[in-house]
Amino acid sequence: MTGASPLVRCDAVRRVYRAGAAELVALRDVGCAVGARELIAVTGPSGSGKSTLLHLLAGLDRPTAGSVCWPALQHPLRPSGIAVVFQGPSLLAPLDVAENVALPLLLLGADDREAREQAMRALERVDMADLAGRLPEELSGGQAQRVAVARALVSGPRLILADEPTGQLDQASAGQVIDLLVEAARSLGAALVVSTHDAGVAGHFPVRWRMDHGSLVAGAA
Ligand code: ADP
Ligand code: MG
Repeated sequence: MTGASPLVRCDAVRRVYRAGAAELVALRDVGCAVGARELIAVTGPSGSGKSTLLHLLAGLDRPTAGSVCWPALQHPLRPSGIAVVFQGPSLLAPLDVAENVALPLLLLGADDREAREQAMRALERVDMADLAGRLPEELSGGQAQRVAVARALVSGPRLILADEPTGQLDQASAGQVIDLLVEAARSLGAALVVSTHDAGVAGHFPVRWRMDHGSLVAGAA
């Protein structure tokens, strides 16, 4: 990491899942930081803790021990300026494509017209404006994921977290989605953290962290 305050920092993070008496240590003693505009791939086999780490970085989950903080994304209640792209289908079924993309802006208080205009601009960036009126069930997996990328961009985030965004896509669609994410992060000046178990995807990123059995074993400064 370079520069001043990181967008997010983990110190000695441990995350234990409990099911009855059983305990599963998903993250152990993880320390890492993401600086402004960094492009990072988090690699590691299935079960190594990638999703758990991304959820903590997003503020969607809390560590069992240790700390996660967002020094440059301060907000009274929770970190702001973070967008998340999930692995599987995440669009809301009753809403059309444009409404799905406009939703984050409406939740932030934008009026309908402004939200719709910005949604259309975000859809143009991912080459999906033509399908703005479709329902999610009428999209291919790759198209749906491009819409999810547009929804992540629309609010101008400073940190984009994408958890295996290409895990369910064929190679061509996967390449497009990764290119769009990297291009969007660059043009927004946002940092991007993408988890993947695909070495080809990781190869697109200048920084690569590797997870193994809940530990961050390489790459994080
Ligand atoms: P990855 O994304 O690298 O596949 P995960 O972070 O999803 O890894 O999972 C790390 C470990 O934590 C795995 O052993 C997984 O089975 C376990 N795990 C993940 N989520 C839960 C949960 N909600 N309850 C119990 N165990 C979980
Ligand atoms: Mg995962």
